[in-house]
Amino acid sequence: MKADPTHIEERIRAFQEACRRAGAKATHQRTEIFRAVIATDSHPDAQAVYRQVKERIPSISLDTVYRNLKLLAEKGFLQIAGTSHDSLRFDGNMAHHHHFSCTRCGMIRDFVTDDPQGLKIPEEACAFGEVQSLHLEVKGICAACRKKLKAKDKK
Ligand SMILES: [Zn+2]
Ligand SMILES: [Zn+2]
Repeated sequence: MKADPTHIEERIRAFQEACRRAGAKATHQRTEIFRAVIATDSHPDAQAVYRQVKERIPSISLDTVYRNLKLLAEKGFLQIAGTSHDSLRFDGNMAHHHHFSCTRCGMIRDFVTDDPQGLKIPEEACAFGEVQSLHLEVKGICAACRKKLKAKDKK
């Protein structure tokens, strides 16, 4: 699923303005890295962002992409969606949402739920300090992986 293009341009403008206000440069590289993450809901890792940005900026290095992704997450422009297969995954969706993650292929998809289904923050968690939000990570095997597994079983 691709994000709405006009929405992406809006977010990029807001991003560039916020950078200016924070005294950080919204360089061409940084802007393209940001664009690559917010244009997809696939929660890419640095490798995937690198592959995409390289099409527009062939001279960019994986290290530059990685450092900028970390910086963007630190500054609150992106979120870190967790890790899978040893790599950090980045999330351009800054609205409150939850994740389904596939334990086989590492697919991460967003979902929102209006009804928190009576989810109560466990007291055990509250004991550590002030709770600010509740994030769910539902783990499982995605439909595509299920299909592949079934096909394998038949052999
Ligand atoms: Zn999967
Ligand atoms: Zn997400």
